[in-house]
Amino acid sequence: MDQDILYHLALGSGSHDLVEMFGDVKFVCMGGTPKRMEQFAYTIMAEIGHKLPCGTTLQDISQFSYRYSMYKVGPVLSISHGMGIPSVGILLHEVIKLMYHAKVRDPVFFRIGTCGGIGYEGGTVVISEEAVDGALKNALELTVLGKNIQRPAKLDKRLVRELKALSDPEDPYDTVTGKTMCTYDFYEGQGRLDGAFCDFTETDKMEYLESIHKAGVVNIEMESLAFAALTHHAGIKAAVICVTLLDRLKGDQVLAPKEVLDEWQQRPTKLVCRYIKRYLQMKGRLSLDGHGSICVKSPRRFKLVQQESETYD
Ligand code: URA
Repeated sequence: MDQDILYHLALGSGSHDLVEMFGDVKFVCMGGTPKRMEQFAYTIMAEIGHKLPCGTTLQDISQFSYRYSMYKVGPVLSISHGMGIPSVGILLHEVIKLMYHAKVRDPVFFRIGTCGGIGYEGGTVVISEEAVDGALKNALELTVLGKNIQRPAKLDKRLVRELKALSDPEDPYDTVTGKTMCTYDFYEGQGRLDGAFCDFTETDKMEYLESIHKAGVVNIEMESLAFAALTHHAGIKAAVICVTLLDRLKGDQVLAPKEVLDEWQQRPTKLVCRYIKRYLQMKGRLSLDGHGSICVKSPRRFKLVQQESETYD
């Protein structure tokens, strides 16, 4: 191709110097919403001591796509993937090509998300060992040129162990590993009784959830199958880390208050931050000093100067 337009990212190989912009990326972190991924960008910035020049701020690199949001903090990309397999699949095609154009070698991809627990209370962190579909098949089924093809939905086993080892016994919640079921729907697809339609009974639902529990499924969400299958197909090391919002063996509705949900959603982020920090520390690339956006020497004088300035029109 003369140029490759990454349409949903508002980037292109002919219009942008992708090596200059993204050549130093090592970690690609994805999650559902633009807000959460903007927050993640600020969190990782503080954690790795990445300082922006004074007077500058993070910018949504893909803002003009009106589809996904993308933030870059040193070697970390933080990107929203929307909801469901089609959304994360389209994004992965373009991010994998972005890595190729930027000549990035051996990036590590993370999905940080939310899920329903199977036998686990809300607030539990789950690291996926592999992704399975609603019929427990460990592959993403796609129709390509009218034919059904299967892509194994495998995740990196060593990365799972490394992430699990980074969970802290002091964490006030459990971090577990197991199979993740990925469905095409939040309601009927996940055996919920509270959708607009429901053509099965409470007993049918419980039988199904108990059977998948017995088969080793610990959580259900809507993106891991495509995430695992496409990264595996590309030879990219990847992991999926989610927090449970409820135990599906106990109900269907997400009832926890917003502040509680907000705190729970920080939990998978913490694990990924620990991993990235440890990697950068080992490479001697963690800088916790340097120039920053606003550097306060004396909070008392800072406040006085601010108050003084505010009194002038
Ligand atoms: N996300 C899901 O896909 N399912 C849940 O139950 C909760 C979050």
